[in-house]
Amino acid sequence: MFFSTFKYLIIIILLIIISYIGLIFSLDSVDGLTFTDTLTNNNINTDDIIVSSSGFVWPAPGYNTITSYYGYRDAPTSGAGTFHSGIDIGAPTGSKIIAAFSGTVTYIGFNGPNGYTITISDGYYTANYSHVSPYFLVYVGQNINQGTLISTVGPKNVYDVPNNPYKDSAGNPTNGATTGPHLHFSIRINGYSVNPLNYY
Ligand SMILES: [Zn+2]
Repeated sequence: MFFSTFKYLIIIILLIIISYIGLIFSLDSVDGLTFTDTLTNNNINTDDIIVSSSGFVWPAPGYNTITSYYGYRDAPTSGAGTFHSGIDIGAPTGSKIIAAFSGTVTYIGFNGPNGYTITISDGYYTANYSHVSPYFLVYVGQNINQGTLISTVGPKNVYDVPNNPYKDSAGNPTNGATTGPHLHFSIRINGYSVNPLNYY
């Protein structure tokens, strides 16, 4: 009787250990993120989630410097447009990017001069978050709540894009047409870009 109960106890403990290992591996396998990254990156300080009078959340918590405004400009690097369809927010690689408004992810990928990009639409507004990390935290079709961590600011250089035409002065491939880490943030309505700062 004792050994029989003991045997079941061992089996139950083994099952608990196996399911725990399974949990770690399932979290570990999200788009190449490590378990530690997932835990760290989701740690958003709610004080950083600032809602504007228009109801939009600032997408780069803690970083408020605009390094390039919306509108016509001199192209800062080869391949970058003279009409700047969004704003550039200066922030170092790894800085958190959160959803300005709720919506559905409609695109993730390397989007030409915008580099690694996430697109989220609520059916009226469409936001592009560009030059982001290649390690996507979201997937196409995913519903995202406003203020949720969706990505981090990507590195200047990326090395895994086939036939990447964008390069820095040293000849190293870049995360789109970019001179350094930043978030390019744009908003479109019916396909037409608008100045994101109108909403903050
Ligand atoms: Zn830009």
